Amino acid sequence: MTVEVDKALCPHNHVCPLVRLCPVGAITQGLDGFPVVDNEACILCGKCVRKCPMKAMQFVE
Ligand code: SF4
Repeated sequence: MTVEVDKALCPHNHVCPLVRLCPVGAITQGLDGFPVVDNEACILCGKCVRKCPMKAMQFVE
């Protein structure tokens, strides 16, 4: 399982609040404005999935 951004839901036009929220620093923001999850670092805690205001972060099997 991984966490991925649904690019259809993320407006990618603001500073992503999830970058600071992630407890292990697994989220960065690309130049295109979409959050990028480092799947090696991600512990699948689900914080970003729960807290994204656009519900754009999703668990993917
Ligand atoms: S699930 Fe948790 S560890 Fe993984 S990217 Fe989201 S906030 Fe970070």
